[in-house]
Amino acid sequence: MSNSKVTFRIGGVHPNDSKLARNCAIEVLPLPQTVYISMAQHLGAPAKPVVAVGDQVKVGQVIAEPGGFISAFVHSSVSGTVKSIAPRKDIAGNMVPHIEIAVEGDEWAEGIDLSDTLVTAIPSDRAAVLEKIKACGVVGLGGATFPTHVKLNPAPGSKAECLILNGAECEPYLTSDFRILLERTKEIVVGAAIMQMVLGGCRCVIGIEEIKPEAIEAMTAAVAELGYKDIEVLSLKKRYPQGGEKQLIDAVMRRQVKSGGLPISVGAVVQNVATSLAVYEAVQKNKPLITNTMTITGDCLPVERQHNYLFRIGMPLSYIAEYAGGIPEAAAKLISGGPMMGRAIANLDATTVKGSSSILYLSEAATKRKPESACIRCGRCADACPMGLEPFLLNRLYKAGDIEGLEAGSAQDCIACGCCLYSCPANIPLLDNVNQAKGQVMGVIRARAAAAKAAAEAAKAAENK
Ligand code: SF4
Ligand code: SF4
Repeated sequence: MSNSKVTFRIGGVHPNDSKLARNCAIEVLPLPQTVYISMAQHLGAPAKPVVAVGDQVKVGQVIAEPGGFISAFVHSSVSGTVKSIAPRKDIAGNMVPHIEIAVEGDEWAEGIDLSDTLVTAIPSDRAAVLEKIKACGVVGLGGATFPTHVKLNPAPGSKAECLILNGAECEPYLTSDFRILLERTKEIVVGAAIMQMVLGGCRCVIGIEEIKPEAIEAMTAAVAELGYKDIEVLSLKKRYPQGGEKQLIDAVMRRQVKSGGLPISVGAVVQNVATSLAVYEAVQKNKPLITNTMTITGDCLPVERQHNYLFRIGMPLSYIAEYAGGIPEAAAKLISGGPMMGRAIANLDATTVKGSSSILYLSEAATKRKPESACIRCGRCADACPMGLEPFLLNRLYKAGDIEGLEAGSAQDCIACGCCLYSCPANIPLLDNVNQAKGQVMGVIRARAAAAKAAAEAAKAAENK
């Protein structure tokens, strides 16, 4: 392991890490009576069901195929009977197609290796490995849920120089990545070596925040024992949002991704440690992505009620909450994800998806916003912004409806990290407003790109006449 603790160079804040569930080993959630599996668990086009009501399915069987180039397969997480295929509210309250399956036993599809045997030999057929990752429905589990087979296959002319494995888990409260770093250490390293092979043998850096010394130690030992080439563990300084893609690239490679650019433009591919585990399971065990780890935590839960659970996709959040002892009386807000970037849970009947990471119960004291007052022009929001933006200015432009000014001020680069809101002594809702502004600017940028494409096509058609 490299002893040098690195971090990103612009902005950032230091919220209390509140890792209350860090010592809770992963427990397996029992099966519910029914699962509802979403067709929109990934970035891109929703998946298209390939089963019908009344069909019998096994665990790991394909139940939906990709709905486009950027999309992913979805597999059944249980064995049983398909009861319905219908829209159902997701966590934000949006209607999304789901496949309802009544659970009957726990019969797995043929060919999935459920043994604990570690498979360390790295296959060399790049195309076959990419196909396997695609067939197993693997998507990025660090938040974006971008299909992994697409991200691991950069466009011709782009070259990956460094695979960065994100083990920062910089959001307060969340501990599921920390637990898999401790409990699935070697599988994560094998997954990294598989992705290295797919990317043409680039170097790999596993970044872990310094406040997880046990994970750094375990990962360093596993890397040494497994002996793959060019994999190193790097200790990252504790600083939020250390796990942001652009922030990690800056910390590890000292390179900045330009506005609108992709990590591969500077030779980087970033994957979460949970994705690396999913790649291992897909390639070495033929196991589709139907399970993941989530944290049940919050400031209003006593220590004995904090948990890290291995869940299957499609489990109702209400079922998990009840199994974990019910919603604490003091909970004023329920969040999926961390307190900085997570989303309020609008609907507890929503079900787990591939990227679910937590149910976070926060008390009134932890969530109450103080009254907003006038901007005192202290500049703290700009100092804290890891994207180098001026949130106070963007806020003013948003209120004035100045879309041109917002684009010139790079509102489109906001990563919704919340550092500005966290820093503002006037309690101005900078995160909400800059996010809204970003949406407006992105709408204009997309419309402009569509118009340019249509004009180019028309010109080409005229030329060919
Ligand atoms: S939410 Fe956006 S504007 Fe605010 S600090 Fe983060 S990146 Fe900057
Ligand atoms: S931190 Fe708040 S008060 Fe200070 S400049 Fe930014 S918006 Fe104004």
